[in-house]
Amino acid sequence: MDLTLSEEQEAVRKLAEEFVAREVAPHVVAWDRAENVDKSIVKKLGDLGFLGLTVPEEYGGSGGDHLSYCLVTEELGRGDSSVRGIVSVSLGLVAKTIASWGDEDQKRTWLPRLTSGEAIGCFGLTEPGTGSDAGNLATRAERDGGDYVVNGTKMFITNGTWADVVLLFARTNDAPGHRGVSAFLVPTDTPGLTRRTVHGKLGLRGQATAELVLQGVRVPAGALLGPEGKGFSIAMSALAKGRMSVAAGCVGIAQAALDAAVRYAGEREQFGKAIARHQLVQELLSDIAVDVDAARLLTWRVADLIDRGQEFATAASKAKLYASEAAVRCANNALQVFGGYGYIDEYPVGKLLRDARVMTLYEGTSQIQKLIIGRALTGVSAF
Ligand SMILES: Cc1cc2nc3c(=O)[nH]c(=O)nc-3n(C[C@H](O)[C@H](O)[C@H](O)COP(=O)(O)OP(=O)(O)OC[C@H]3O[C@@H](n4cnc5c(N)ncnc54)[C@H](O)[C@@H]3O)c2cc1C
Repeated sequence: MDLTLSEEQEAVRKLAEEFVAREVAPHVVAWDRAENVDKSIVKKLGDLGFLGLTVPEEYGGSGGDHLSYCLVTEELGRGDSSVRGIVSVSLGLVAKTIASWGDEDQKRTWLPRLTSGEAIGCFGLTEPGTGSDAGNLATRAERDGGDYVVNGTKMFITNGTWADVVLLFARTNDAPGHRGVSAFLVPTDTPGLTRRTVHGKLGLRGQATAELVLQGVRVPAGALLGPEGKGFSIAMSALAKGRMSVAAGCVGIAQAALDAAVRYAGEREQFGKAIARHQLVQELLSDIAVDVDAARLLTWRVADLIDRGQEFATAASKAKLYASEAAVRCANNALQVFGGYGYIDEYPVGKLLRDARVMTLYEGTSQIQKLIIGRALTGVSAF
């Protein structure tokens, strides 16, 4: 794998870096304190093509390869993980899944709106009673003439209160476990669907996270995405690619931690010299730097495998596992470099640590990634 970026890749990375400096960085602290990212950011992301990366141009996407997608999500993650999450979910989990599994009508209906930022998507898999064990979800979609009627509750749904469409997973028959699950595209203004913001998050405070309650939500049969009963495979294929973008976002957090820690270590003086000149501070900085490189290389490998049409799911789990744990370590080490000032939200590292913490939990916890990797190594499922 050639690690040199092409001119196009460097251009899109630079575009994302400048976007973060102009549209994100000045507002990060205020959005975090207000628990609300300004929603106008979505249209701006769409205008630059960031919500259409890797989606075919005939459906309004901006094309591009998966390394470009990683570069953009890394830059956004360096700026604000709440903003990065908008892209990872609306594009990575929803639009890309419609592009892979949707029929022509579904692609024409949703992709131009999602890729332009006119509409936002959310991914409704987790429920109050099922997180890691998603195949045992309880939401039901009962056939009623030409329609389905959906009842159930979804929990912790990113973009939930902002979204125009939810990629919803529901049980359509009584087959045990994941075999009875189907996927649906449900407009969020459908009668019977209500949303409640989840407040009090440790991190990602600016992100719209919601509980969705569906009571007698009626959708036409044309809302079914992919074949009936294939919903769990659709969810897992979405998450495998999604893990690459979470990993890239984590590289962004780790890089931001490194940049902040190196800068501060050069400015802060103790014992008559910059703390950067104390060997144990250099150890903290070097530990962060090695984590950044290792996480980035694992993540780029996933992009390379996808773009070459190779099997990538296990590599995506390895990248997500390593990068998410590394993001927590890096932010924590950076906070140590900042001393007491790192504990105050006028400095960036406390927020990096709070935002990083969820990365080892969502899109499959670290334990679940280890089970996926273990299954690939042994051929035996420990789920
Ligand atoms: C901010 C935020 C945003 C989210 N966004 C979305 C979203 O957009 N869409 C969506 O569908 N979900 C979303 N989630 C949900 C997220 O994916 C789940 O929280 C996650 O899958 C874990 O599920 P759980 O919280 O129910 O934990 P549980 O599954 O109850 O796990 C609890 C603990 O048990 C461990 N555990 C569980 N099973 C095993 C096992 N077999 N072996 C070993 N250990 C195990 C876990 O690793 C964990 O440590 C979000 C969550 C958060 C916090």
